[in-house]
Amino acid sequence: TGRLSGKVALISGGAGGCGLAASELFAREGAKVGIVDLPKSKGGEIAAEIRAKGGQAVFAAAYVSVSAEVSAAVRTIEDAFGPITVLFNHAGILAVGPFLETEEAEWDRLMAVNVKSMFLMTKAVLPGMIGAGGGSIVCTSSISAVAATPMEVLYDTTKGACHMFARAIAVEFRDRGIRCNAVCPGFIATDHGNRELAGLSKYGVDVSEAAIAAQQGRMCDPMEVANAALFLASDESSFVNGTHLFVDNCFTAV
Ligand code: NAD
Repeated sequence: TGRLSGKVALISGGAGGCGLAASELFAREGAKVGIVDLPKSKGGEIAAEIRAKGGQAVFAAAYVSVSAEVSAAVRTIEDAFGPITVLFNHAGILAVGPFLETEEAEWDRLMAVNVKSMFLMTKAVLPGMIGAGGGSIVCTSSISAVAATPMEVLYDTTKGACHMFARAIAVEFRDRGIRCNAVCPGFIATDHGNRELAGLSKYGVDVSEAAIAAQQGRMCDPMEVANAALFLASDESSFVNGTHLFVDNCFTAV
């Protein structure tokens, strides 16, 4: 029993940061969890730890921007647990730097890992999800989708795309029992969040104090993002569709 009992959840980026928090939380709440993360990640160990605690989890290594790897990972998880009914599109990376110094290759890489990944993953999962009678997709957007941060044109653009992807999928698939929402964190105490603050200060943008002040005194805890994703993933949010749930303690512009 649990808030996700009977669900099969695929979590991209499920071996690090908030994705790891979600992998553990979703398993504790009764989901069968498929962790998708980089081959070099700790996904295998994390899945084994979840199983050792009585949960159900498998690891499927994949680069989320590579179509064949995404399809193979989805197949691995479906073979283990049946159709995926919860998809947490969480994997994402960061780039910080002046717009005029942004290389084309970096632009393509961020668009691939942060945006194309959602297309590939969602397209691979939806047929099974629709066949299972419906499900819930949660995409990780950011405050960066609506509050531009200095030195982050590229990153902000990818998160703006995630923001609208979630809503557009909801509109197209709600007639088939699919919900799709976005969770939009502020600065989170993860590798990503810490790199972001360090990167910005390198360019003379003193955000560490301001950013933390914008969130009233502290960074967001990964579990606070995982808990918001849990609500959106579970049937408790059954009439919540196409929305953006901010987890930012009322962030005010840096
Ligand atoms: P993190 O860097 O701690 O973890 C990200 C995980 O994704 C890692 O386990 C990493 O191995 C995995 N990953 C990265 N690239 C991948 C790829 N190509 N294929 C498969 N897996 C890949 O990060 P986090 O803080 O949990 O952030 C991840 C998500 O949260 C991103 O979408 C990011 O944009 C978003 N976000 C983060 C913050 C923040 O301050 N940390 C704020 C808002 C939104």
